[in-house]
Amino acid sequence: EVKRDPKVQVARLKLPILGEEQRIMELINENEFLIVAGETGSGKTTQVPQFLYEAGYAQSKMIAVTEPRRVATVAMAARVGHELGLTSKEVSYLMRFEGNVSKETKIKFMTDGVLLKEIQTDFLLSKYSIIIIDEAHERSVYTDILLGLLSRIVPLRRKRGSPLRLIIMSATLRVEDFTENTRLFKEPPPVIQIDSRQFPVTVHFNKHTYSDYLKEAFKKTVKIHTRLPEGGILIFVTGQQEVNYLVRKLRASFPYRRDVDYTKLITKKNATDVDAALDSEPDDIESDDDEVEREMKRARKARRKAKQKSKTLPKINLDDYDMPEDDGQADLVGNDDDSEGHLSDSDAEEDTLAPEIKSCRQPLWVLPLYSMLGSAKQARVFDPPPPGARLCIVSTDVAETSLTIPAIKYVVDTGKKKMRVYDHITGASAWRVVWTSQASAGQRAGRAGRVGAGHAYRLYSSAVFQHDCPPHHPPDLCRRPVDDLVLMMKCMAIDKVVNFPFPTAPDRMQLRLAEKRLEILGMLEKHEPKNAYAKKIDEEVLKVTPLGKAVSAFPLLPRYGKMLALSHQQNLLPYTIALVAALTVPEVMSGKADCWPATGHTLLLGDPGVLLRAVGAAEFAHLKGEENLFCAKYGLREKAIKEIRKIRKQLTSEINLSIAGVQAKIDPEMKPPDDNQARLLRQLVLSGLGDQVGKKIGMDEVKEGEDKRKYKYAYHCGELEEPVHLHSASILRKVIPEWVVFQQMYETGAEERRKMVMSNVTAIEPEWLPIYVPQ
Ligand code: ADP
Ligand code: MG
Repeated sequence: EVKRDPKVQVARLKLPILGEEQRIMELINENEFLIVAGETGSGKTTQVPQFLYEAGYAQSKMIAVTEPRRVATVAMAARVGHELGLTSKEVSYLMRFEGNVSKETKIKFMTDGVLLKEIQTDFLLSKYSIIIIDEAHERSVYTDILLGLLSRIVPLRRKRGSPLRLIIMSATLRVEDFTENTRLFKEPPPVIQIDSRQFPVTVHFNKHTYSDYLKEAFKKTVKIHTRLPEGGILIFVTGQQEVNYLVRKLRASFPYRRDVDYTKLITKKNATDVDAALDSEPDDIESDDDEVEREMKRARKARRKAKQKSKTLPKINLDDYDMPEDDGQADLVGNDDDSEGHLSDSDAEEDTLAPEIKSCRQPLWVLPLYSMLGSAKQARVFDPPPPGARLCIVSTDVAETSLTIPAIKYVVDTGKKKMRVYDHITGASAWRVVWTSQASAGQRAGRAGRVGAGHAYRLYSSAVFQHDCPPHHPPDLCRRPVDDLVLMMKCMAIDKVVNFPFPTAPDRMQLRLAEKRLEILGMLEKHEPKNAYAKKIDEEVLKVTPLGKAVSAFPLLPRYGKMLALSHQQNLLPYTIALVAALTVPEVMSGKADCWPATGHTLLLGDPGVLLRAVGAAEFAHLKGEENLFCAKYGLREKAIKEIRKIRKQLTSEINLSIAGVQAKIDPEMKPPDDNQARLLRQLVLSGLGDQVGKKIGMDEVKEGEDKRKYKYAYHCGELEEPVHLHSASILRKVIPEWVVFQQMYETGAEERRKMVMSNVTAIEPEWLPIYVPQ
């Protein structure tokens, strides 16, 4: 009953997965679980939903497809709708803040986060007959959690007599985490491998690795475009701003003009240029690779031939030109990337390429691609470039496996990507540019071999590849701090986190400890066993509290999130942000705390108070342009101060984004807290660090014959038998309070001098304990 456009039909038949339709359908009809592994571009995302649709899976219930990336969610729904000849009402998409799902929806593409949300209101996913988890190799946190949940939902649906099926799709053959994990699937699900029709791709490493990878990417692209034969170019950079920068620069170098017939122009012009350039300048695209040399010789020959053919050149008016409507500029507004300073436009070194750029008349049809790009602009990457122009896509890692760009022959890989990196002490996270994994590099290179033999240019050395690129990055779920993960899952009403069937499980002991901490901090609470059976095995569960829910919205470890969640009271938010930022950065001070005199509550706030005053004063000095002098004078590590400034800014903007109604602002001239504020801050610190309390060891407790002096700064901490000492640099050595909380505890010294110390200590009042650490 499906009527496809003949053009669509032709394109489909070229896809390797078409030959597997029958096998896939047989396996999924006979099994509840199936894994489909196949090279990017083999047709998984666009074809499998169609097979299922044609087999009747959308007759009474819907087919769901999850994507970890928004850009793929929209693009793939549109494509599948088009191929099936259905409207967007029938093949729809849904993601946070956006979607076109209707009552008639048969196939629903959605982000993995959206399906997780749906599970919270309809645990059995009763609207769906089959769930496809796409891009499972990306191992996004939500996808991993979905897989765990679905491994339990599918058997439940069978028991209810309304079976649900699950297809896991992956662009890599590395699927052991799904097949060899008996906690996840008792019986390993069948795996179908789609034979790929991949052409050989020659990989070229740079001899040297330069830090300015954008400049290198530009240079390499210029050389490819001016010297190498036809074929699309795909460039991988790390973020939206880098994409837009390169797009602008490349368009300015090789502009496209509407009124020119390039089909006549390029053959002639390009040939002359390539010859000239190659004769005058040694080929450094990759001199250690004769594959390219041969490729270029072939090109030269072909162009010489073409030159002899076309003798007449049309006249063009150089002033009459037209850029593609989207010049990338608009996207720069409100973009959250930080420009690491390598976006400078003028560059002397690039001038060596100037003649080449100038004499090349063939336009480069440059298009941006990144996750937040509007869907209309996104769709353009699938269209062929105008006649005579060469296609060039500048993309983030979305073009790695999520979207297959047709007709790419050259890949330019910076080897970099942006990754969310967590600070394991505070849980604060930041996007950092890191080396891609070797697996990603392989995927990126593979993009060049879809239409014919291709070339991948890695803008870094093979030594970097071997030593700095890990074989794989660990799954996101395992990189997150456990407290954060546990709280997030509890907020999703997943109560049994410790025994959850994770595809790759974090350490179970760590999960258990995190639960305990969160309970002490009032974010989880015990619930009675639900039924007689649970009672018998004494299975009580820890569920999230309203406080826990509020805290989970803060982009930090729960203990610091709690401080922030409470700090709107008495206008303490700016102090708390500064405090948390300062606690994130190690070794802020090398000097003594003595230069920050304090009394009363300000003194009792202890080391965090000293940090707060140091940061405030350093900020003030920074405003006056005296930061380095100031840091030197007071023994502050200048790099630490700069880092704290960055984190304060980032926390402030993330809090403004994620917490409705909160308007955090950075006050660069933050005054030191007064006595009353300092008292409140002590309570806040206690509320977040309440599981790390110490009580002074009394002299009367010291055993006969032991040296009492050894116990001068010693505390009992929790269930720990041995004493824990105030850090030698702690300002609280002046006070030696009866009760304290601390941020960290660790061992110092060797052999006999080995002892436990605590750092970043604050004095508390014992009567606060039952209030802030209810137990
Ligand atoms: P996989 O999921 O296995 O990586 P896809 O199903 O995404 O493969 O892609 C199959 C083919 O469909 C690719 O050649 C891709 O270029 C093509 N394709 C996908 N979306 C579009 C589109 N919007 N327009 C044209 N071709 C597309
Ligand atoms: Mg796909």
